Amino acid sequence: MSAPDINLQRFCARASDLRSYLRAPFSRDGYVYGANGHIAVRVPRGDGEAPAELAADKIPHLASLFAGAAARTDWRDFPAIPAPERCRRCSGAGVLRGHRCEACEGKGEFEHFDEEYECKSCEGNGLFENEAGVFTIECPAAFCKGGAISDGHAIGENRADIVYLHQIAALPGARVSPGSFGDTIYFTFTGGEGVLMPRRT
Ligand SMILES: [Zn+2]
Ligand SMILES: [Zn+2]
Repeated sequence: MSAPDINLQRFCARASDLRSYLRAPFSRDGYVYGANGHIAVRVPRGDGEAPAELAADKIPHLASLFAGAAARTDWRDFPAIPAPERCRRCSGAGVLRGHRCEACEGKGEFEHFDEEYECKSCEGNGLFENEAGVFTIECPAAFCKGGAISDGHAIGENRADIVYLHQIAALPGARVSPGSFGDTIYFTFTGGEGVLMPRRT
């Protein structure tokens, strides 16, 4: 599998993330990245079209994040990771679908004299749920990540988000360096590499 077959978008930040530059893949120093602050995945930039170069003042330590991988000696095949639980709120879709709330124009809130109020009509969702609706919002369930339930899962001495671990395990030829407790987790796959932040629970 060649590098461009990897869908980097799913490692990017959600559409609601304030760091707009993380919402889509970007280029830097000969690589194309997908990153969201917990995980960063990169593939060498090919000769074809590539996303825009990330401004130098954004994530200046990005290259050094990856540098530690070379010194690791605990590389192994990526273990099998069970599928995360599916979110019941959105049935695994990651979005809720419906009709846009016209009272708040889909925002879910009002601003009034610099104060924000939740929209009473739609309970802050910005929409009225309806399977047939064309308006979508990100699933508001607390632990929902693209329709999967985020939870800690062991990887070596570390723990990391099972949603990411499951995605990485599915990459071709995936290998991992879990490191010691609290260390950055490194991984490689055919045509690319990545870093994953451990979590405490
Ligand atoms: Zn959900
Ligand atoms: Zn509303």
